[in-house]
Amino acid sequence: MSQPPIRLGMVGGGTTALIGPVHRIAARMDDRFELVAGAFDSDPARGREFAETLRLAPERAYGTYEEMLEAEAARDDKIDAVVIVTPNFLHFPVAKAALEAGFHVICEKPMTTTLEEARSLAALVKETGKSFVLTHTYTGYPMVRQAREMVAAGEIGTLRRVEVEYLQDWLATAVENTGSEGAVWRTDPAKAGQGGAIGDVGTHAYNLAAFVAGEEPTHLLAELASLVSGRSVDDDAMIMMRYASGAKGAILASQVLPGNGNNLSIRIYGDKGGLEWWQERPEELWFTRLGEPRQLLRRNGAGATAAAIAGSRVPAAHPEGYLEAFANIYRDAADALRSPPGSEFIPNANDGVRGLAFVAACLASDRAGNVWTKIED
Ligand code: NAD
Repeated sequence: MSQPPIRLGMVGGGTTALIGPVHRIAARMDDRFELVAGAFDSDPARGREFAETLRLAPERAYGTYEEMLEAEAARDDKIDAVVIVTPNFLHFPVAKAALEAGFHVICEKPMTTTLEEARSLAALVKETGKSFVLTHTYTGYPMVRQAREMVAAGEIGTLRRVEVEYLQDWLATAVENTGSEGAVWRTDPAKAGQGGAIGDVGTHAYNLAAFVAGEEPTHLLAELASLVSGRSVDDDAMIMMRYASGAKGAILASQVLPGNGNNLSIRIYGDKGGLEWWQERPEELWFTRLGEPRQLLRRNGAGATAAAIAGSRVPAAHPEGYLEAFANIYRDAADALRSPPGSEFIPNANDGVRGLAFVAACLASDRAGNVWTKIED
């Protein structure tokens, strides 16, 4: 029997927002959610006006998230979950208040701005028994899920090295001084957290490496830089990683390298083979068995694994991409909310803590003069 949609209230994601609209599309794709309320903007009036364009009931267009949580908690048809798509510094207070008011949370990365906040939020998730979904987009791609399954099945053998690059160029000049809203908060440590590129794209890279490898490094050595002068957070990072198993890893994260749009890629090697995936050609996964020619595996094509098939919406060779990957996260989130903890593919509060532990270790390593540093548990 079909279940009623999960009712969502969104915080952030207003007129000028980047990721809020993507969440709204992704949440609709499988008809498992309905957006019924929101506090969409830092400017309450602008947020209410925006809610009208989404055709929300006027009494559910709120000026602030506090108003939304209070009013929704008192309704019979209250929201089930709060979606947090604000700048980073609001993730913690909004998620905390939402959990305390009895709602599930679907939250953007990084989970919080500090490791302490992340730990305290993870403890609250446990205490309240509510679900917490962290939207690390790239775990939603069928070929990333296939890579994870192939590594787990031993197709590349014993892990030797993981390399992830996440390179962009949109912060290559001081665009924050021209008023670009997204650049202003991302380069302000009070709003983004102490990590710049390492928090914004580095946490995605770290999560992707852990998701595909199925193991996490214990130590890292980071060299961070602010290559645009006057910037108070890092915008370029080179990180080496060590695993307890003896495997090695590397993350290159930058937002200032001309020619890079959303250039995310992963290469993972074991003693028997290797896999390579590039976000800008997301339907393809290159696989090499040592001693054999490289093979191009295609989404939903020959050799597709169960997760890649389940995550595909249309037949092979009919292109899918970013929005469908995001919708896979929402589809899994619906399952997790209805019967916790849900699929192994869905990033949770623990992954959020790991992301902030990664950022903290990068900062500590760099400040100590680029030394090997333990990533806290
Ligand atoms: P943005 O600056 O484009 O949009 C932020 C929105 O939040 C704006 O509408 C703003 O008005 C609103 N806002 C700010 N303060 C608010 C408040 N007090 N109450 C209600 N709304 C408020 O930012 P963005 O690029 O959309 O990023 C938002 C979050 O999503 C960040 O944490 C970012 O790291 C994350 N993000 C994730 C991905 C991904 O791939 N998963 C991609 C982009 C951004």
